[in-house]
Amino acid sequence: MVVNKFGGTSIGSPERMKRVANIIKENKPQIIVLSAIAGTTDSFLNLASLLYTGRKDQAIAEVSQLQTEYFCYVESLYTDEKFIDEAKGIVLSFFSYISGFTKDVFTPYEERALLAQGELLSTSIFCKYLQELNMEAVLLSAFDFMRIDTHAEPQLDYLQQNLCLLMEKNRCSDIFVTQGYICRNTYGEIDNLKRGGSDYTATLIGAALDVKEIRIWTDVDGMHNNDPRYVDNTYPISYLSYEEAAELAYFGAKILHPSSVLPAQNKSIPLRLKNTMKPESRGTLVSENSSKGKVKAVVAKSGISAIKIKSGRMLLAYGFLRNVFEIFELYKTPIDMITTSEVAVSLTIDNQDNIAAIVSDLTHFGEVEVDYNQAIICMVGDFLADNKGYASLIFAALSEIPLRMISYGGSKHNISILVSERDKVRTLQVLNEKIFLDSCGE
Ligand code: ADP
Ligand code: ASP
Ligand code: MG
Repeated sequence: MVVNKFGGTSIGSPERMKRVANIIKENKPQIIVLSAIAGTTDSFLNLASLLYTGRKDQAIAEVSQLQTEYFCYVESLYTDEKFIDEAKGIVLSFFSYISGFTKDVFTPYEERALLAQGELLSTSIFCKYLQELNMEAVLLSAFDFMRIDTHAEPQLDYLQQNLCLLMEKNRCSDIFVTQGYICRNTYGEIDNLKRGGSDYTATLIGAALDVKEIRIWTDVDGMHNNDPRYVDNTYPISYLSYEEAAELAYFGAKILHPSSVLPAQNKSIPLRLKNTMKPESRGTLVSENSSKGKVKAVVAKSGISAIKIKSGRMLLAYGFLRNVFEIFELYKTPIDMITTSEVAVSLTIDNQDNIAAIVSDLTHFGEVEVDYNQAIICMVGDFLADNKGYASLIFAALSEIPLRMISYGGSKHNISILVSERDKVRTLQVLNEKIFLDSCGE
């Protein structure tokens, strides 16, 4: 059994969905996890913000525009008129439900139900297409096996038991299709695994079923050494260890959801990142193995705030850091980077939800300063202490960039720096030129 996950870009047009159907002809039995068609979740988020702010007419126009796009999509996907009509019927029933949101009160509950429609639509359209191709597939609803607890953590036992039961009921089939991203929470309400969450669905399913391989299909040929959205001349990395891939995903490589590596790592399942448009290219293999002694990649995470707490009480004192950390724990706010001196500690967070309360509580321990609009630039590779020379190479490259914080030695895979958001792209570019193109790229 393998898991094949296709992202929104991989089914972004009818032609691309046709390619997907072609790719999945091999490697049965398999579970196919689909995202919403590219742009749909963004449109629903836009719709939600229109509805929260009472702009009903604009909301109705947005729904009608999206419905027209879906009609065009199905018209060119199927060949047979019968299938086109049936698919139009499916689209119509989804959009009559979606229109309902414009007529009533709109709360976060409705928002989550609305956001789930993208994956429900794409999987319904795809299964109907497989039917037209005479490729029998069973559509499994992720609501029947994907559940998160009160801390938004997926419940693996529940997933495993329920998914296995469903597959057992349909044991004659060797193609199962399901939705990424969507789930239920402990109260039985519709919920989701956060933006980009279909990758996470795929690895959770892969781990639950102990599959042979998990493939994440997207629009680039694997994890690149730098962010291709901002930097020219990037290239795909052939091999990454789980630790390296997890650091890259967490610190901003959009190609993977931040939590998606761990389920595969826990079960030692190979994770392959592939290009739907170029299935023959080898992509990136994430596994226990990696190549040694190299700077593999650099990524950036935006929207970071740096908080500095300065206090004479830190001098020769113990327990100070515990007090500080307890405040972040209280507000369920993870810390990404941390540096200390004898009289001050600086740390970074990306979740700004409780920043005012955090800062107010921290003032009990000292003087607090906050720098907003920062970005973490994270270099990932094999930085064992006896691998000499990398730090000097990196810092020589950064000689023109003002650095707010530096973190080295926290793990053997990661060197991170904090720069102002306005220097982010320049930093990524300069690192590409000086580290990857000039010296030790793959
Ligand atoms: P999908 O629709 O398949 O989920 P995403 O947009 O979520 O696709 O992720 C793929 C995109 O991630 C690529 O198109 C690329 O622009 C972006 N990306 C950002 N950083 C990297 C990186 N280091 N390597 C590869 N892709 C990256
Ligand atoms: N459709 C969701 C999103 O756009 C989940 C995903 O694509 O992985 O974030
Ligand atoms: Mg994605």
